[in-house]
Amino acid sequence: MQVPNMSARAAESLESYLGGRWVSGEGVETRLYDPVSGDELATVSAKGVDLASALIFARMQGQGGLREMSYAGRAKLVGAVADVLVVNRARYEEIAIANSGNTKTDAAIDIDGGIATLKYYARVGATLGDQRMVLDEKPVRLAKAENYQAVHIMVPRQGVAIHINAFNFPSWGLWEKAAVALVAGMPVLAKPASATALLAHAMVKDVIAASVLPEGALNLLCGSAGNLLALLTCDDVIAFTGSADTAARVRGHPDVVRKSVPVNIEADSINAAVLAPGSAMGSAACDAFLREVVREMTVKAGQKCTAIRRIFVPADQAGAIADALAAKLKTTKVGDPRQEDTRVGPLVTRSQQGAAFDGIRRLASEASILCGGPEPPRLPGIDSAKSAFVAPTLLCVNDAAGAKAVHEVEVFGPAATIVPYRNEQEACALIARGGGSLVASVFADDKDFLLRMVSAIAPAHGRILAVDPAIASAHTGHGIVMPQCNHGGPGRAGAGEELGGAYGLRFYHQRLAVQGSNDLLAALQAKAASLH
Ligand code: NAP
Repeated sequence: MQVPNMSARAAESLESYLGGRWVSGEGVETRLYDPVSGDELATVSAKGVDLASALIFARMQGQGGLREMSYAGRAKLVGAVADVLVVNRARYEEIAIANSGNTKTDAAIDIDGGIATLKYYARVGATLGDQRMVLDEKPVRLAKAENYQAVHIMVPRQGVAIHINAFNFPSWGLWEKAAVALVAGMPVLAKPASATALLAHAMVKDVIAASVLPEGALNLLCGSAGNLLALLTCDDVIAFTGSADTAARVRGHPDVVRKSVPVNIEADSINAAVLAPGSAMGSAACDAFLREVVREMTVKAGQKCTAIRRIFVPADQAGAIADALAAKLKTTKVGDPRQEDTRVGPLVTRSQQGAAFDGIRRLASEASILCGGPEPPRLPGIDSAKSAFVAPTLLCVNDAAGAKAVHEVEVFGPAATIVPYRNEQEACALIARGGGSLVASVFADDKDFLLRMVSAIAPAHGRILAVDPAIASAHTGHGIVMPQCNHGGPGRAGAGEELGGAYGLRFYHQRLAVQGSNDLLAALQAKAASLH
């Protein structure tokens, strides 16, 4: 297929969809680039847009339209959004390649991941049926009187779901949140990260043009958040994905704190992968481990919040594992994602490239660089002064017990560090130094080891992938977020929870206990869909 010349879009200023119309901000806040050529693709600005009116419109029009529908009715809308996106998928891939530097595989994870999550939540919503509230528990007796009981129900919140997204998943980040909020019955105001807003903008434009959602149910803010957080009420919710620093500013915003606006945070994470002791080279566990580490370091050029950053290997095997990983990474093709054989494209911006190089230098103060490093790779036909490439970079800590940076610095790029461990206890203690992570994966031929590790590291994680030979080539991957599973992690990862099937709907509901007579509660139960 002919890839269009995206630089032809250079003059386009991305509008926001607010208050039922497309509106422009003043001037330019951020310029969007092609991270291979450095060409400017578009600009964004939300300066001067009327966010107060936009929020009122969403609360009145959007809420009203969705509230009149059942879960199954809203699920159909979410399915219709997915259908619109499927029709236009080829164009989205071109945008993802141009603005995010994605390879086709990277683009598929973002675009198809978003569409699949919409379709999945359309199914979840359909199972909740024609109800308008959710029964959370079975009734319980509270006193001697047998006809007096309590039940917990959940009702959709009455405000707007504010979705603030990170630059690395302009599609998946948008739809994995919107799918859940819309099925739950809350209108969405999505704010994509400015640097890669082109894809979210194109997708929302298509969905709005297709008129598949009630007016006000889907709103888009292209540009900075401005005074958005100050305008929220206790009926609204914020779901944020991004860096821990911005997360702290969002969570600590004085108006968010004063009005107790619920906030869900998905932040950064120094995720671990662990190889069990005694996993010989060539064993099923070791092969699966090596495959997964290389895949996690290279897919999306390592720009996944779930990517493996710390590679825990038994000390007596560290040399052999390091050699095998470095050999594979050195032959992985880095380059223009438009070339079919490219496996690692650029980072999304030169400022991200600079941050990744800074991070690699910090890691290298306590580790040896085995391949890659903090300099732009020389690539034929690509100007290193305009592009944003980072070569796959493997490090190995010099002193596993004493190293600190490896547990603290998230290099948001194709970089990871080997941490040799002496025994199981030491491995668990070192993993916990990550301060709370989204995901860890453990690879072993021995199920008892897997069971012990899952129990030991569970409190510090939101998800664990435990790979034994039975699923060595059947699992969905360390870094792929499946909508059926919880996404989020404690501590540094933000202490948030997203997705996870019907459980994910909770954030967009008010949960309350209703105390009353058996007859009243039975009537209430008959009106409510059940989560059980
Ligand atoms: P970021 O700089 O923190 O930005 C995230 C979002 O917050 C962007 O939309 C940004 O808008 C917005 N923002 C910035 N300042 C704000 C403020 N004062 N009030 C409200 N919104 C504000 O993060 P990023 O660089 O886009 O993303 C990379 C980070 O995200 C990495 O650390 C990665 O680990 C993390 N991440 C986590 C997950 C997860 O699910 N846990 C997923 C993906 C990424 P502008 O772009 O307009 O500045």
